[in-house]
Amino acid sequence: MNIHEYQAKALLKEYGAPVSEGRAVLDADKAEAAAGELPGPLYVVKAQIHAGGRGKGTFKEPEAGEKGGVRLAKSPAEAAEFTRQMLGNTLVTKQTGEAGKQVGRIYIENGSDIETELYLSALVDRGTGRIAFIASTEGGMNIEEVAEETPEKIVTVHVDPATGCMPHHARRIAQALGLKGDQAKQCGKLIPALYQAFVEKDMSLLEINPLIVTKDGDLKVLDAKVGFDPNALFRHPDIMELRDTTEEDPAELKASEFDLSYVKLDGDIGCMVNGAGLAMSTMDIIKHYGAEPANFLDVGGGATKEKVTEAFKIITSDPGVKGILVNIFGGIMRCDVIAEGVIAAVKEVGLSVPLVVRLEGTNVEKGKEILGASGLEITPADDLEDAAQKIVAAVKG
Ligand code: GDP
Ligand code: MG
Repeated sequence: MNIHEYQAKALLKEYGAPVSEGRAVLDADKAEAAAGELPGPLYVVKAQIHAGGRGKGTFKEPEAGEKGGVRLAKSPAEAAEFTRQMLGNTLVTKQTGEAGKQVGRIYIENGSDIETELYLSALVDRGTGRIAFIASTEGGMNIEEVAEETPEKIVTVHVDPATGCMPHHARRIAQALGLKGDQAKQCGKLIPALYQAFVEKDMSLLEINPLIVTKDGDLKVLDAKVGFDPNALFRHPDIMELRDTTEEDPAELKASEFDLSYVKLDGDIGCMVNGAGLAMSTMDIIKHYGAEPANFLDVGGGATKEKVTEAFKIITSDPGVKGILVNIFGGIMRCDVIAEGVIAAVKEVGLSVPLVVRLEGTNVEKGKEILGASGLEITPADDLEDAAQKIVAAVKG
């Protein structure tokens, strides 16, 4: 789960990280007063969407101007004007995809005078099973290019969970960022604070780009992108409250309501599978036979008929889906429950694409019987390979 920049900054501030003062605004009429509460004389107006690259982004609507989702204003009145232009409009950045994201919130921040822009992030490095800090002097808006063209300018520092974050970690990061003297000292405070926030809040990603050195020589978190491990959210009700469901894919949101693991993808074969491993291999074999899966969907071990019905409806609601493959191994899950769920869903929303079903395991005969008696146009399959070949052939016509 991701949160907005302004929420991330408030959270990091609690841990002692240096951030600018700012106000979140949902209503353009309140923008001027909100900006007026800040010291000024520079105000930064920042579109809040769950995607980076806002500064270089463009709005779809001409009235929002071509100037991107991060703008510098010289007065509260100008900050309010920019807010009015951005709110409700669709910002397209490198990270949003072509569809862009609608801006529903604006953050007005007191402007900083920037001396240098640095890059700093923390993530869970699965390779080493440790939290890693990634630091670079090349901060700002083009870190992806730095990674590609001059990877030697990016330094990774792993933290051993047994020791936690130690002064030598911060020293190495300060060195990687080219910080000396007082700034290195500030870095020595910032790194353990970020580490503590990362661990305590079960973050999966914390990206500060840029971390700046101000003209006064102070470090400051100028942008912050934070993601959390969804499996740990149950123990962070405070973080759950920061969730902005308007930022989430509607189908994925619906799926999470029914406790389904669903990820939308770009292909054309919708998959309904039980078990993450089987779901992965189903996607693999679809690719193997030359097509692309439209989603990852695991209905889970003990799904009810209602859950299966919802899952099927979510798949069919994706206009990209040109065919559906149901691939179930009934262990705890019973094949007859799957069959009933599929039929209930088709009765409700219809079925306009080919459907291939492969059932195996508990109550498989009963499941096949139910599907057979339903009168639906279903292509049965014997095994995974057969199923994949049949659905790919049906979709490719
Ligand atoms: P992103 O484009 O979504 O990553 O948004 P950022 O928050 O990183 O802002 C983009 C760029 O705007 C930064 O790299 C800075 O160059 C600039 N910027 C942001 N805040 C300030 C500020 O307070 N003062 C100045 N002068 N520039 C800023
Ligand atoms: Mg940024």
